[in-house]
Amino acid sequence: MQAVVRHDWTLAQVNALYALPFNDLLFQAQTVHRQHFKPNEVQVSTLLSIKTGACAEDCKYCPQSGHYNTGLERERLLEVEKVLTQAKAAKDKGASRFCMGAAWTNPKQRDMPYIIEMVRGVKAMGLETCMTLGMLDGEQAKTLADAGLDYYNHNLDTSPEFYGEIITTRTYQDRLDTLSHVRDAGMKVCCGGILGLGESANDRSALLMQLANLPEHPQSVPINMLVKVAGTPLENVDDLDAFEFIRTIAVARIMLPKSHVRLSAGRSRMNEQMQALCFFAGANSIFYGDKLLTTDNPEADADMQLFAKLGITPEQRHDVSDEAHQLALADAIKEQANPPLFHAAQ
Ligand code: SF4
Repeated sequence: MQAVVRHDWTLAQVNALYALPFNDLLFQAQTVHRQHFKPNEVQVSTLLSIKTGACAEDCKYCPQSGHYNTGLERERLLEVEKVLTQAKAAKDKGASRFCMGAAWTNPKQRDMPYIIEMVRGVKAMGLETCMTLGMLDGEQAKTLADAGLDYYNHNLDTSPEFYGEIITTRTYQDRLDTLSHVRDAGMKVCCGGILGLGESANDRSALLMQLANLPEHPQSVPINMLVKVAGTPLENVDDLDAFEFIRTIAVARIMLPKSHVRLSAGRSRMNEQMQALCFFAGANSIFYGDKLLTTDNPEADADMQLFAKLGITPEQRHDVSDEAHQLALADAIKEQANPPLFHAAQ
């Protein structure tokens, strides 16, 4: 069975994948995964919040929205130097991609010179760059691409049908327009969604259908599990069954065979066995070793231990300049399997 990159999925076809017996679904997903990726490699990114809180949007899951009182400390745009210091630390800890996120509706013109300096500086360290700054117009997308930004993250969050229950301050079409500006500017797209918002099974299928039926599949597809934050409207929503989450990873892997599927927010609430099943289902990217914006992310040590237990190594970049840093991370993981050595190296 050779996986085909398709853009014509129907809801019935996606629902049929979800309805497969669990073992059949995982077997199919793992088979597709092996056609396009090394089965025991996981790409590793680090995320830094460069501007936190007081966002004008009303995303009901988000502690950074200015519409809800979550006690989150607001921070203005970080100075370029501070961002570069953090990027260097992330690189030393083993990340190959550095993602910078700002809680904005969209970047303002006055912010662009600082943003551009951040992109250039991080890139100069040999890291891949990714940003999430809200909506972009065509010109802003081009400016960021010219500065060397590799990826732009902008999520669809959920299905078009359920979207209005979660966000009212911008439309689904606004999001699709930003994605199209990013693609047109030649940047890679990072786009996914969040599960556990109170959406139906059909909504989860419809989200994956939207992602797979875009003109190009996003190169990176974060699948988040809602982290319920007190003070947000979704703080008491029912938990999503863990198997439904794993099934979603598997269906995403089958529908988006060449995309990196990322275990993103909510990973710190997953035990090792669930994360391992997600890797088996086709997840091959994580955020590593730092705070995932404002929600907890498992510490680097725990990630290294899990990688060592599973025989997973960080994905090698095809960029020679980065080889030394990838080797250093591989070494750190090996040392982690031997605790005395690892701790001596701290
Ligand atoms: S998800 Fe993004 S756009 Fe929505 S409120 Fe949070 S920071 Fe703002």
